[in-house]
Amino acid sequence: MEKEDQGLAIGIDLGTTYSCVAVWQEHLNRVEIIHNDQGDNTTPSCVAFNDHQRLIGIPAKNQAATNPQNTVFDAKRLIGRKYSDDIVQKDRMLWPFKVVAGDNDKPMIVVNYKGEEKQLCAEEISSMILGKMRDIAEAFLEKPVKNAVVTVPAYFNDSQRKATIDAGAIAGLNVVRIISEPTAAAIAYGLDKRSSCVEERNIFVFDLGGGTFDVSLLTIKDKNYHVKATAGNSHLGGEDIDNNMVKYFVEEIKRKNRVDISDNPRALRRLRTACEAAKRTLSFATTTNVEVEALFGDNNFCSSMSRARFEEINLELFEECMKTVERCLTDAKIEKSSVHDVVLVGGSSRIPKVQQLLKDFFNRKDLCKSINPDEAVAYGAAVQAALLSEGIKNVPDLVIWDVTPLSLGISATLDKVMSVVIPRNTTIPVKRIEVYVTLEDNQSSAEICVYEGERKRASDNNLLGFFILAGLSRAPRGHPLDVTFAIDENGILSVSAEEKTTGKKNMITITNNKDRLSTGEIERMIQEAEVYKDEDKKFLRKAKTKSDLDECIYKMSNFLKNEYISATLCSEEKKAFRSAINTATDLLDEENVEHEIVVFEDCLAGLQSMLERVMDMGQIA
Ligand code: AMP
Repeated sequence: MEKEDQGLAIGIDLGTTYSCVAVWQEHLNRVEIIHNDQGDNTTPSCVAFNDHQRLIGIPAKNQAATNPQNTVFDAKRLIGRKYSDDIVQKDRMLWPFKVVAGDNDKPMIVVNYKGEEKQLCAEEISSMILGKMRDIAEAFLEKPVKNAVVTVPAYFNDSQRKATIDAGAIAGLNVVRIISEPTAAAIAYGLDKRSSCVEERNIFVFDLGGGTFDVSLLTIKDKNYHVKATAGNSHLGGEDIDNNMVKYFVEEIKRKNRVDISDNPRALRRLRTACEAAKRTLSFATTTNVEVEALFGDNNFCSSMSRARFEEINLELFEECMKTVERCLTDAKIEKSSVHDVVLVGGSSRIPKVQQLLKDFFNRKDLCKSINPDEAVAYGAAVQAALLSEGIKNVPDLVIWDVTPLSLGISATLDKVMSVVIPRNTTIPVKRIEVYVTLEDNQSSAEICVYEGERKRASDNNLLGFFILAGLSRAPRGHPLDVTFAIDENGILSVSAEEKTTGKKNMITITNNKDRLSTGEIERMIQEAEVYKDEDKKFLRKAKTKSDLDECIYKMSNFLKNEYISATLCSEEKKAFRSAINTATDLLDEENVEHEIVVFEDCLAGLQSMLERVMDMGQIA
């Protein structure tokens, strides 16, 4: 595989609810999952804003219940989608933060930051999470990191993949490759089982995460990882399970307490947190309590849920998973009895009912749980990143053959039928040519619409864009044009056209793909990201200065209580010391005034020089 970029690359699993970062450690000959500053291997994909600062990861999640409108999660569900998309509309109703329609129907997240309303797109929120994961890696590696392999669900379409690359660019990261999450997990699994992969093995990866569900069938033979088929559902995951539980308890509260909390974002957020915890408990216990103090008014909420009830309210969702499993096997043209290993990935794959349905489906085959479902995707991404990094020699040589998740085609005929150029599950990179013919005599230009999707009528599919090929030579109808579709290793499409008879070639990029951020917009967002970073740094510097000032006041006050020092100081000096302590204390107590950092720093410097004098006296004493 070609080395694409200089320098070290990391692997990032940009998850809907949690993200994970990993790196290939050349001197250890293995992948290292990098823990964050709290020692956790996964970091919540959550960003929050308040009057003073922006928070990312654990601190953002921790304050979610008290600041629900400005705590953004699930940005991945919005990425590359339009505001009017049914999925966005459904999600919007359940989120405590506001989403509005921006230019070109782009969903914009509305938050209040430092007393001002701000509108951010999903790429910006994702860029903040990617930036955080990069910071985690840099702190661990003690060197700057510029390149990353980022994973996406296998079914992510062209716009969603491009939007993920854009999110990386805003974070100042060069996304050297986009790979599918189940493929990354299969790499982790394959390496784990390297010794037993001499023969060709069919591996089924079942990845049920927080917000997405993805399955893939891969064949591993020697160093080749060949994806045969992939299927998924962008709206199926742990959060949908949490939603079902929330809905269940909202109804229970309505029935028992005659109170409707469905329009109370704070109560819903707190109930959701309790439901998520209960769900995790139900993966090992058969019943659990669900309790939230003062959920509505002064009323404590106290209820319980059995595993049987949990399975009942989520059964439809679990069955939906199994339909997707079946579709993937049909597409791969592989019998379930020919599947050698079923690999579980994603936090929600721990749910016993999900495991039982899957095991039953595969004729009671034991499921592979040897790889950590939370870390496998980042692990595989780190291996791919090492393969693309300069100077890494020891990484196991492997070649990944991924597939395109959706059929791509054009609509150029009068009946507006989708003419598929690249069918779904075609191995990428790929280049295919479709002959387009003019519909009228002497047609001077041709408008060609590019679609993705599986429906027969083109307009039922997703319009990626259109282009106009102008200046055609005069010819009777049926004049041929070659339209070339090329998909690169990242799953990203480009289209070109050639007038066959004259050999006139036109490189065409899809002109009206307004979903994607323009270069100008990305540049503006990069600058804004720098401003956020700067403001975060300033906030931390101020917080540190305030804490040092507080410490200094405490030490000064204690020293002044020392009898020897008190006796040594003249009354003028004592007065000056007390006055300095009082001024500093007042400054810290002034909650309503936003002083510049320098005010605190000057005050601290003055106090510290006094403290040094007093400490010298203390030593003499
Ligand atoms: P992921 O996106 O793979 O990080 O998965 C996160 C999802 O897994 C969240 O919805 C979690 O609530 C869910 N999850 C994590 N652990 C468990 C567990 N033990 N049982 C059920 N769901 C879990």
